[in-house]
This record gives sequence, C-alpha cells and structure tokens, in this order.
Amino acid sequence: MRGNVSVFIPHVGCPNDCSFCNQRTISGEQTAPTVGEVRERLRMAYEIGAERGSLGETEIAFFGGSFTAIDKEYMTGLLGAANEFLEREDFRGFRGIRISTRPDCIDGDILEILKKYGVTSIELGAQSMDNEVLAANMRGHDSEAVRKACGMIKAAGFELGVQMMVGLYKSTPEKEFFTCEELIKCRPDTVRIYPVAVLRGTALEMLYAKGEYVLYGFDECVEICAGLAERFENAGVKIIRMGLHAEDGVDKNSVAGFYHPAFGEVVTSFRVREIIRKNLCDGVNVCEAANGFMSALSGHKKCNRIYFDEHFPGRVVFKRNDELPGRTVAVNGRLFAFGV
Ligand code: SF4
Repeated sequence: MRGNVSVFIPHVGCPNDCSFCNQRTISGEQTAPTVGEVRERLRMAYEIGAERGSLGETEIAFFGGSFTAIDKEYMTGLLGAANEFLEREDFRGFRGIRISTRPDCIDGDILEILKKYGVTSIELGAQSMDNEVLAANMRGHDSEAVRKACGMIKAAGFELGVQMMVGLYKSTPEKEFFTCEELIKCRPDTVRIYPVAVLRGTALEMLYAKGEYVLYGFDECVEICAGLAERFENAGVKIIRMGLHAEDGVDKNSVAGFYHPAFGEVVTSFRVREIIRKNLCDGVNVCEAANGFMSALSGHKKCNRIYFDEHFPGRVVFKRNDELPGRTVAVNGRLFAFGV
C-alpha cells in the first residue's frame, strides 16, 4: 500500500489566470512554507514512518499546482530538503518524490533538475485536450503542450500522471471522452479526475452568475465520470483520485459544481449499480463482494440496496463473500473487477 507525505506549496503570484482557480483572490491569505519548515515536516514524517516501517512505500508529494513554475532557488531548496530523506544504499528512507505542474512548465533543463534530486513521478494538470475548452478557461496552453510534456516525461523515465477536469466552461460530454482518449494516447501511468467546483472569486463564478456557464446535473456528471473511469481502467491507467479534496477550503468556497466529500465513492457505487442492473437474470440475483468492497456493493449510504429494493423488489440479494478478490463484485457468480 503506497502512501504520501503531502507538502502543500501554493503558487503565490502565479501569472496565469485559469477560469476555475481562486489563487489570485486568496493569495494574500496564503504563505509558502520555508525550506526549513518543510525539512522539519519531513523529519517528523520520517520518524513516524521509520517507527511504523512504512518508509519504503511512502512518497514525498509536493502538491498545490505548478511546482516547476515557482522560484527556481526555492524549488531546488525544497527538493534538496526532500532528497535528504530519500532511500539510499546506506539509508532507509522514502521511496521517491512526486510533484505536479503545468504542461508548459516542463522542459529538458527542468527534467534534469527533477531527476538529480530524486523526483520519481510528475503529474501534469492537462484539464482538457480540447483547444476551445482550454482557451475558454484561460489555461494559457494548448493540447499540443500536454502531448509534448507527456512525451518528454515518459522519455526521461519518470512515472507520468495526468489530471483532467470534468464540466469546464464550454465542455461537453463528447469533449470529456475526447480528452480521456487523447490522454490515454499519452500513455500515463495514473490519472486524477476532478469534476469542477465553482469557487468564489473565479472567472467561472462570474460566468455562472451571468448564466453563461451552465453545468451538467450532478447525476450526469457522475455518469460521465463513471464512463471515464471505465475507459481509463480498461487502458491500464490507474485512477488515483476522483473528486476534489475538502482541503484548500473547496468545501467552504464552492458556490456551484460537483464538490462532494465522497465523490469517488458515489461514482464507484454508480458503476457497481450499472453492472448489476445490466446483468440481472430472471428470479433472484445474488450480488457478492469481499468485506473490503461491501460498501461499494451496497453503495454510498446504501444507495444501491435502496435502488434495487425500489426498482426490483425481492430480486437482488447482497452477500459478503470474503473468498472474492478485493475490488471485485460477483453477480450470480460472474466476476467484475474495478481498478487497475
Ligand atoms: S490553476 Fe492556473 S491560475 Fe491557478 S495556480 Fe495553477 S496555473 Fe496558476
């Protein structure tokens, strides 16, 4: 089981103006941690990891946006501090460093620096692969920049992660699936799928208030994300996150959109429900999962049990079966796996 020690590095003073980002309006409230503070945080995490014996499975993750666009001296200072705690021949340490950044903030020199300090995974905020959507949301780069950056990251031997947003201004379900297919062609190892949260102080908020930006319904967004998840998994891309974290005040600052504290669980519940529904036979149907996946089988807040009780009364029985592999559902003995 892999875990992260997360270090949030806000991009204070970011020159970009992405439609969904409230960095400009909140930057006065944010301070970037000093290198010394980060070193101290890592030291504490190191001690806890050493005690638990979990260092080898843990990565140091710098998150918060465009890591390679922050001041270079500060960036190398942070990487140097992280590097002190990495696994070496004579030192039992963390297994690597992951960072996230913008596609247009990757070049050969940057990749060389990241390699030198022991970065293992790079996540790119692609957001969309449709140029009209990228322009409408003021991303400041096009889809070709994503392809190019992905190619360079893979060629340099890093693990590649991509992030896409669902429900951006001017996007459509077709464009979400187009983005998914184009990202798969970039051969990522992992993906994060972030349905949009419309935050206070953003361009999206203004467009939404004027009625120019109309969002999908919540259920439609769940259905789209379920389809995307299936497509990514079928292509062997691991989904490491679905839905925004409550951190960064997203839960408090969201005026519309799809923030839900358990969005990933809601999507998985929907996927399980659809598998069961499409494979129902006449008579009574037995649906099983091992203990660890029973909550997905029953659904978020038992929504699947409620759905089948209402629509197919007495015809669907939910059973725990610990002999089944994890993240697997059996419908009348036929197995369906979730995840990569
Ligand atoms: S999302 Fe856009 S505006 Fe916000 S910090 Fe990242 S690059 Fe800057």
